[in-house]
Amino acid sequence: MPEKVVIIGSGPAGWTAAIYAARANLQPLLFEGAITEKNAQQQTLPLGQLNLTTEVENYPGTPVGKTREYLASALKGDRIPYWVQAEKAQPSHGINGPELMELMRQQALNFGTRVETDDIVKANFQKHPFELSTLAGHFVEALTVIVATGARANYLGLPSEKKFFNNGVSACAVCDGALPRFRNKPLVVVGGGDSAVEEATYLTKFANPVYMVHRRDTLRASKIMAERALNNPRIQMKWNSKLLEVIGDEAKGVTGARLENVQTGSKEVVESAGVFLAIGHTPNTDFLDGQLALTDKGYIKWTTPARTYTSVAGVFAAGDVADDYYRQAITAAGTGCMAALDAERWLAERGHH
Ligand code: FAD
Ligand code: NAP
Repeated sequence: MPEKVVIIGSGPAGWTAAIYAARANLQPLLFEGAITEKNAQQQTLPLGQLNLTTEVENYPGTPVGKTREYLASALKGDRIPYWVQAEKAQPSHGINGPELMELMRQQALNFGTRVETDDIVKANFQKHPFELSTLAGHFVEALTVIVATGARANYLGLPSEKKFFNNGVSACAVCDGALPRFRNKPLVVVGGGDSAVEEATYLTKFANPVYMVHRRDTLRASKIMAERALNNPRIQMKWNSKLLEVIGDEAKGVTGARLENVQTGSKEVVESAGVFLAIGHTPNTDFLDGQLALTDKGYIKWTTPARTYTSVAGVFAAGDVADDYYRQAITAAGTGCMAALDAERWLAERGHH
């Protein structure tokens, strides 16, 4: 028997779609991603992008206050990463990304969602029921599919960046920032968006100074985030600058960064124990192998306004994989809800309840 709804992806979009589909009695099967070295390197491990961050201040319903006490009673402590455990000692915090994601996952499980810790590596949308193959070698047929595979961090593509990857080069400050190698040392963060500000601000807990290397002279980050960086005495802006080379040696790892001012062409080397890339994300669509229409930026195309329909009837898309504009947890959750409702109606029209 084919599955009624298969959901691919484990960020806010996937779990919200699962909650809605499960409550509609569609017994969804959700693939949350595999725990592999490749997924760890490209930051596509289960639970998505919010699992890589600290406080989430803008997800409605999780204010600073009694949230901590509520979480203590609602979550199993052993699934929460160490950096969150450490921050629990600070009572003024709101919710952390990993906690929020675990809550969503648990809510989806509570309503009967079946979860596979596996990647979908191949899809065949030319046939119906649709065919999906997993990394572990399983094969699944589905009447509807919700693609909610999100996005992954970009790199500049410099040979030196690759050479020092995990030896001082990282795209995740909260994963790596607390390592002893970075303590009380200068660090470089590349980028000017919300992620770059968040990474730089987080790193100031451990490092001093943190250079923010941005290719323009104004930040792309939201106003409140930008002000946070500009007012932080430990953050030094390197405006109109690009990273030319990560400097270091095999034994010590990263020791510096060669920068170029893109307006004057002048070059400088700053001492740095690490280089953190925060230059945006690429949607996770590789496994689709061209079977869904994409936008010119490579995101899945929503083919009908205010619907999550894709170019293949019965396949729906939700979250950052189809959204290059809002890219927030709440909008991903919102389109996840829409995708589940769209799938439910599509099935009902064909007599599946
Ligand atoms: P994602 O969160 O990207 O999750 C998708 C997941 O699906 C992947 O990680 C992977 O585990 C899984 N997957 C991918 N491919 C496959 C496959 N082939 N098979 C099976 N599984 C697969 N937004 C906010 O609103 N507030 C914030 O404070 C905030 N902070 C952020 C901090 C950082 C550092 C970053 C990077 C982003 C932040 N965002 C924030 C943005 C927010 O995280 C994203 O908008 C949101 O997570 C997108 O959710 P999603 O469900 O589309 O997918
Ligand atoms: P982003 O908004 O796309 O910003 C990427 C930044 O990297 C931009 O400043 C960009 O420069 C720079 N950049 C891109 N390519 C580059 C290159 N090749 N060389 C040098 N610099 C380059 O991505 P993001 O910061 O990861 O944010 C993604 C989404 O998640 C956003 O919607 C954001 O609001 C959300 N988010 C929210 C929060 C929060 O609310 N707390 C936190 C993190 C992320 P230009 O500015 O010149 O283009």
